[in-house]
Amino acid sequence: MLRLSKSCLAKVEKDNVLSVLDREYLGMGSEVKQFEAELSNYFDCPTACVSSGTAALHLALQALELRPGDEVLVQTITYVASFQAIAATGAKPVACDIDPCTMTIDLKDAAKRLTEKTKALMLVHYAGGVGQLSDAYSFAKKNNLRVVEDAAHAFGTLYNNSIVGSKSDIACFSFDGIKNITSGEGGCVTTNDRILLKKVEDARLLGVENDTSARFQNSRTWEFDVKKLGWRYHMSDVMAAIGRGQLSRFEELSTKRKLIASYYDASFSGQQRVSFFKQDYSSIVPHIYPVKISGMTLETREVIRKKLYKKGIQTGIHYQPNHLLSYFFDSTARPIINAEKIFPELLSLPLHPDITRSDVDYVVSTLLDLV
Ligand SMILES: *Cc1c(COP(=O)(O)O)cnc(C)c1O
Repeated sequence: MLRLSKSCLAKVEKDNVLSVLDREYLGMGSEVKQFEAELSNYFDCPTACVSSGTAALHLALQALELRPGDEVLVQTITYVASFQAIAATGAKPVACDIDPCTMTIDLKDAAKRLTEKTKALMLVHYAGGVGQLSDAYSFAKKNNLRVVEDAAHAFGTLYNNSIVGSKSDIACFSFDGIKNITSGEGGCVTTNDRILLKKVEDARLLGVENDTSARFQNSRTWEFDVKKLGWRYHMSDVMAAIGRGQLSRFEELSTKRKLIASYYDASFSGQQRVSFFKQDYSSIVPHIYPVKISGMTLETREVIRKKLYKKGIQTGIHYQPNHLLSYFFDSTARPIINAEKIFPELLSLPLHPDITRSDVDYVVSTLLDLV
């Protein structure tokens, strides 16, 4: 079976985990301190490690001091984590359309959904691409909005020669098992706003102020006051051990992802039935490889997915529009034209560092035989 995505682990990750196990200190300690330092160095930006990408988004939004009733603009085609993280703060995720070329937020549509309650703009870096990022920041500035980048797909992507997350207002990354790098589960927040980062650091440890520095000495704070809502969202040393190994191999892992996606592009070029999203893989590290099959319905796509599965090819759908899910259903938001039109045509093909060129040949020819 060609898996849609998977973790790719080497000896260095396994050795790192064994050293942590040998130390018999598994919580948030010196290994997380090291990983955090390496990430801050990589991003050239202060970074805080947390237990998941969703936790990163939740803490970043909470640190913006959103109130119930506040609104956050976000594209409807994203992982439900983006919506749940906004909802967790009491704010309302306001579903916006996507630009069908970049699959990132359509700023014209977002402008129509602005109200006095709009406090933030969440940007989702779909498949690793960031769309017109500087236009999005201009839009936010003009409308006095903070920007939270859901960069779960975009670890390693460059924009104007800078790594995504290095110059962001706030960027949130995921290190879950299938992302560009993994720490098993995990994530991080990057921001140059030191006050905001401090709020994230405290809130990841149940709101215990400055507990981070105690944990980094393999200790903890015993006497404390708590002034703010907090969560148990810190990263553990076991996770950091995996993450450090992955980060040390990122050049190799990202190069493979780029080569595979470029090879898919070349294999699909010059035919009409299946189109792909043009990305510049000299700067973008692709997390997924979605294609668009024109004329598909939900039913015909499911038939194709089943046939591909029988031939040993696992596929995915990135993503269902969130405004159509029961919990986030919003009839007043509809229609969200591009998102609703493109959704049945989306299909994601296997992409991870262990996919070979002959795997791609097989996926492409099998798919083209079916459509
Ligand atoms: C993976 C992902 C997240 C959440 O990250 P977790 O680590 O799984 O919590 C958020 N947004 C997007 C777009 C993602 O793909």
